[in-house]
Amino acid sequence: MLICKYQPSSAKENIKTLDIWHGSKSLSKKINTAGQQKECTILQTWNKDICNHFWYCCKTADNPDQFFDMWTGLLHHVTGKHSWALGACHHGLLIENSEKELIKSHSVAHQKLSLIVLDGRWLKKVHKYLNFRSTAELESFHNHILMYASKRFSFSPPVYAARAMLAGLDYNYHIHRLPKKNNDGSIQYCGLFNKKSKKWSLYTVKEDKDYGYIPDLQSAILRKRLSAVGGLPRTITRRPDDPRQYGVLSGVPAPATQDLLQMQLSRGRGEPLPKQ
Ligand SMILES: [Zn+2]
Repeated sequence: MLICKYQPSSAKENIKTLDIWHGSKSLSKKINTAGQQKECTILQTWNKDICNHFWYCCKTADNPDQFFDMWTGLLHHVTGKHSWALGACHHGLLIENSEKELIKSHSVAHQKLSLIVLDGRWLKKVHKYLNFRSTAELESFHNHILMYASKRFSFSPPVYAARAMLAGLDYNYHIHRLPKKNNDGSIQYCGLFNKKSKKWSLYTVKEDKDYGYIPDLQSAILRKRLSAVGGLPRTITRRPDDPRQYGVLSGVPAPATQDLLQMQLSRGRGEPLPKQ
């Protein structure tokens, strides 16, 4: 018999929050691994539903106890039981899906699922997901900055700051773009294939960017230039904290050129050394 070691933590104990998407992904990985074991392949077919239930519980529950009650109801739902002694599922009338196989109570797969659902260590930190926060927009903003300041190139601090500001202007100006529509008024969607997960996903195409702030930016630059005293500086002195003064930061001290030549020769390449 499975015993759950879940102890609800006090509200003040930890105010850190975790990204719900990453939480769901790690849960999916655990179910996927369990589903590869003998007599547990049925868990693979339930993986998406279980993750959806996790999202629902995190979104709906106000505290860890509410989450626990809703979350553990999953162990009944997968067996086809939607009400039990201490509770019931939140969903309405279900449309019967004859293709969806139920997990037999006390079967190996059900026991494996119970171990995941009632994992005490995982449940202890699950309250960090209850704020239902996601870092997706922040990650999207960081990707957007990379369009202006790629990691493949090095920039001096003022140039990097200017590029980051341009990225910020672009992001803020275009953040509320509406979905693009077809001639018949329907919203345009596009399929996107993720090579890593090998799955297709759907996203909404937004209206094209118009960069309407560029003329304002250009006239502000011109005004600033016209009112500036003196011309542009011809020689630029590096600031004392400019990282370019350190050269290439390989992390390994550079050997002498002669030593490098010897190494090349030992691998059968390079010019032969003059005979003594
Ligand atoms: Zn149910």
